[in-house]
Amino acid sequence: MKIICIGRNYIDHAKELNNPVPKEPVFFMKPETSLLLRNRPFFYPEFSQDIHHELEVVVRISKVGKHIQKEFAKNYYEEIGLGIDFTARDLQAAAKAKGLPWEIAKAFDNAAPLGKFLPKTHFTDLKNFDFSLKINSEIRQEGNSRDMIFDIDTIIAYISQFVSLKMGDLIYTGTPAGVGPVSIGDRLQGFIGEEEMFNFQVK
Ligand code: ZN
Repeated sequence: MKIICIGRNYIDHAKELNNPVPKEPVFFMKPETSLLLRNRPFFYPEFSQDIHHELEVVVRISKVGKHIQKEFAKNYYEEIGLGIDFTARDLQAAAKAKGLPWEIAKAFDNAAPLGKFLPKTHFTDLKNFDFSLKINSEIRQEGNSRDMIFDIDTIIAYISQFVSLKMGDLIYTGTPAGVGPVSIGDRLQGFIGEEEMFNFQVK
């Protein structure tokens, strides 16, 4: 399986990092070894002094497809989850300054914590649900899926022009504003609405 991440999918987040608002989705990938499951702790890596949380809605692909048309994209996922796209912001800034790829800052081990999933039927409207991140019981990021520049179906249609999607692939759909550093000892809890989706510690 593969993990595809969308960058700059919320206007407020693109602005907070001084990035232009994209006209087409921007995507990059993380390897399977970046997954961090079952609320296991995240061990702060030695190679960075500035690990940032990016709270993201995650879509799990449920069947194989390529060149998926937007109107059929909804048939390619059954579940919605929540995860963190951990980013070594210091390494990312250095890579960006040199015009180099971001993988060093995004693809490292355990950089993709992933919580549980909810069936699509849980949602009254996939284009309008709240999600949030608490760190040490304080709200640090809040988003609503209606604020995505590119919605889930548009993302699937776009990506599948270039990359075949397979069952179990994950799409991290981008972070709303409010990204920031985490510290050793922090407890991160993610919510969709009132439902706790993950709960783990930085060690
Ligand atoms: Zn992200």
